[in-house]
Amino acid sequence: MEKKPSSKRKRAKRLKSQNKKLRHEKDNSAAVEEVDERQEEEKEEPSTSAFAKRTKSQGFSKSSTFLDKMKARLSGGHFRMINEKLYTCTGKEALDYFKEDPALFNVYHAGYQEQMSHWPEQPVNIIIKWLKNGSPSLVVADFGCGDARLAKNVENKVFSLDLVSNDPSVIACDMSKTPLDTSVIDVAVFCLSLMGTNFASYLKEAHRVLKPGGWLLIAEVKSRFDPNTGGADPKKFSKAVCELGFTSELKDFSNKMFIILYFKKKDKQNPNRKEIQWPELKPCLYKRR
Ligand code: SAH
Repeated sequence: MEKKPSSKRKRAKRLKSQNKKLRHEKDNSAAVEEVDERQEEEKEEPSTSAFAKRTKSQGFSKSSTFLDKMKARLSGGHFRMINEKLYTCTGKEALDYFKEDPALFNVYHAGYQEQMSHWPEQPVNIIIKWLKNGSPSLVVADFGCGDARLAKNVENKVFSLDLVSNDPSVIACDMSKTPLDTSVIDVAVFCLSLMGTNFASYLKEAHRVLKPGGWLLIAEVKSRFDPNTGGADPKKFSKAVCELGFTSELKDFSNKMFIILYFKKKDKQNPNRKEIQWPELKPCLYKRR
């Protein structure tokens, strides 16, 4: 007669099957990483023999996936090229560059979103949270708004400004010269947008449009403000912003990828202002993924 399994044996069996399940799940996650690594290899060295092997043995759908990857690789390279251009020219030159070929703006933003998707947190979301904690009656100017995510996610009135307008709500301009009136804005936001070599003129423009007591929020890539890796000294940068007519309210260095600086516009301008010494801000060049 077959013995009934003891409760001990039943538990052992259950544990064994749970372990098997866990092992299976772990194997799957490792496989995902391996696929990614393999994709990396393909991105680095797309050999023609690899291409030939694929097209010959794996049929149309697989080879079109490969072509998609090649296209992605090309547009990734194109993104990095446009990105470098924007960090090494003036706002006026950037405006002319996109005026000549507005499609480049879409290439840039597709690449930008791809890069951002790898960041654990995006600074624009922190700024959205900050605005949501304040009064919705505050009027905001988003300098270098990109896809205008900020305006789409808060109740506040937001003037979204960028070099190209793909959306009727976005004002196309060089942000050193906006069409905004003087002293009408409560919060000026620069979220990863201090790109041009003349970035100081963007901050001057923000100072002009801000009301006295208005906020200036600057989110920037951390490496641009890391003196150990050739970045600017955040103290020098903050000092220069203060000389423009702001007080420093808060410096948030808690995020691994970016910093956020919070300033307030002074009520009165110092009449004896000397020439401001702006530290150089190095370009933010994204890595090939
Ligand atoms: N703030 C958005 C987008 C950041 S990408 C976000 O955080 O998601 C930087 C943006 O700044 C780009 O859309 C770029 O076109 C814009 N920009 C750079 N220089 C500019 C200038 N001189 N005038 C207007 N926009 C500018």
